[in-house]
Amino acid sequence: MSLGPAGVRAIIDKKRRGGTLERDEIEALVNGYVSGEIDDAPMAAWLMAVCLTGMTLDETAHLTRAMAMSGDTIDWAGAAGPIVDKHSTGGVGDAVTLVAVPLAAACGAKVAKLSGRALGHTGGTIDKLECIPGLRTELSIHEFRAQVMRVGCAVAAATARLAPADKMMYALRDRTATVASVPLIAASVLSKKVAGGAPAIVLDVKVGAGAFMRTLDEGRALAETMIAVGSRLDRRVRVLLTAMDEPLADSIGDALELEEALRTLEGRCNGRLADVAASVAGAMLQVAGLRGIRGPADALRSGAALRSFSEMVAAQNGRLADFDRRFSPSSEVRARADGYVERIDAGALGEIVARAKDTGSESDARRLGLRLAKRVGDAVSRGETLAACFGALDPKDVAEALVIGPQRAEPRPLVLATL
Ligand code: URA
Repeated sequence: MSLGPAGVRAIIDKKRRGGTLERDEIEALVNGYVSGEIDDAPMAAWLMAVCLTGMTLDETAHLTRAMAMSGDTIDWAGAAGPIVDKHSTGGVGDAVTLVAVPLAAACGAKVAKLSGRALGHTGGTIDKLECIPGLRTELSIHEFRAQVMRVGCAVAAATARLAPADKMMYALRDRTATVASVPLIAASVLSKKVAGGAPAIVLDVKVGAGAFMRTLDEGRALAETMIAVGSRLDRRVRVLLTAMDEPLADSIGDALELEEALRTLEGRCNGRLADVAASVAGAMLQVAGLRGIRGPADALRSGAALRSFSEMVAAQNGRLADFDRRFSPSSEVRARADGYVERIDAGALGEIVARAKDTGSESDARRLGLRLAKRVGDAVSRGETLAACFGALDPKDVAEALVIGPQRAEPRPLVLATL
């Protein structure tokens, strides 16, 4: 159905007044935008109306379906094995996919993971993986399917042909301050997952100062919406709400995060990243119906997850041995007083790294970032190293995001809730 200018105006006006849109109205809007018949101005007005008045679950499901169907879709019918996908709503030092995907594959799941690049202050899995020389992330649907079946996992870039409506709408939301809306985030995340075709999905909803969802209540609202919309679209969805006040891993930056993920897979780094990755992998096994076959902790300890990762990298032409794992700091941030680390502002650190990446060459951008030497709750003495910076980062900016005070902060759990 073609709406014409008057029809588009009527839909915007209905939503602005808090009305409920029909499936065919939402489909016409999304299809018209992707075809170019509707331009940015009316779409931005409609997105703002959704931000201000919200959407029902049925409307959110109609939007998700229309966005998912706007391009290619992957069909796993007849595939042998439990196909599962995961997605994070975006965080800082969030290298969970690099560990959880091979971990779940090593435990028997078939992981078909479509990932994105960095968004705003949050990092992107594809940028991190592409630090491995030769590694291809642009796989055809045929290659992606074949690799998942043969190796047990694949992490590929969501191509321009997969959910193109999301790509276009996300860029417009970024420009028009319409990102922070539960129905719009739910439809954006789930449209990619529905187009990717996996019947079982784990969503890692980040909550805190470094995430789009700042509070647990906001995170819960997004989680409940995605579960309800997923079930309307025949998807089994499990959600973990995980903490994102301070960065998850110690490293922030593409190559630095990849290196920490490798140490985690090698069993040499039993920190926060390993804990969240094991929880996410456990949820992937449960939602795929594989509970109890083999535990993620076991797969990490035995080296099975590292073998899965290496096989995945080799299948995508990556040369892991050629990834340079040595990093020399360009500067250090030191404590100016004795005390405790009270706060590490993940959002601010994400912004600092993203800004530095924008100004450097592509290869420099991949290897810059920072590594935290202290975490919230740690005691520090004046002059002790809090963080090491790599590349063109101003240590004074980094220092401002690391707050030292007299009080020892209580550590917060990493997994805040599972739904
Ligand atoms: N991640 C997405 O894929 N979409 C959003 O809208 C926010 C986070």
